[in-house]
Amino acid sequence: MSDLSAAIAANFDHVRRRIAKAAVAASREPGSVSLTAVTKQQPEAVVEAALACGQRVFGENRVQEAATRWASRRATDGLELRLIGPLQSNKTSDALALFDVIETVDRPKLARSIFDAVAAGARAPRVLVQVNTGEEPQKAGVFPADADRFIAFCREGCELNVEGVMCIPPVDEEPAMHFALLADIARRNRLQTLSMGMSGDYESAIRFGATHVRVGSALFGARG
Ligand SMILES: *Cc1c(COP(=O)(O)O)cnc(C)c1O
Repeated sequence: MSDLSAAIAANFDHVRRRIAKAAVAASREPGSVSLTAVTKQQPEAVVEAALACGQRVFGENRVQEAATRWASRRATDGLELRLIGPLQSNKTSDALALFDVIETVDRPKLARSIFDAVAAGARAPRVLVQVNTGEEPQKAGVFPADADRFIAFCREGCELNVEGVMCIPPVDEEPAMHFALLADIARRNRLQTLSMGMSGDYESAIRFGATHVRVGSALFGARG
């Protein structure tokens, strides 16, 4: 095993243990939190090492980059690819051809373009609605006050399979209140999936009910 593979295997071991421990500390099942390994901007060797660790759930933030990395590996047994970055509606078909889950549905035009692509024969994705919990102008996501209406529009107006919600809290704020806000939106819309928490705060996210944590640098080090 190369040094890189060994280091990544140790990181997976460490992160998986901490996830299980955080779940138990929150009186949840240790296996109730899914780890999404974020491979954006990482070299081939990192992807291979992650697969060798048995990791099968991956997050990517750009459609084109993800296609380069994953198209040839799409048939890997159990592979689940999750789009965690913004999606332009003119890239919807490319995204649906590659991803199992789109975590970043956040506006009617995009929801409608997914509906149209599925009507035209594309594979229907599982989707999450991205919520801009910090109401940051530069950040994607529907504002909290508009979330219920938008979720209903996705479900009823666009027949999307909405599994849950996701957020990326502001970098300079305590994330806990954002996690709590997202959990509340999920609860009142009867949604099971909560994608929240990254390398720096996934244990806190699990405390607030995260079902999916998205971890990059804690597994793979800094991005190239
Ligand atoms: C890059 C990225 C992550 C992973 O961030 P780390 O801090 O490296 O764990 C998680 N979620 C989203 C949406 C990202 O873009």
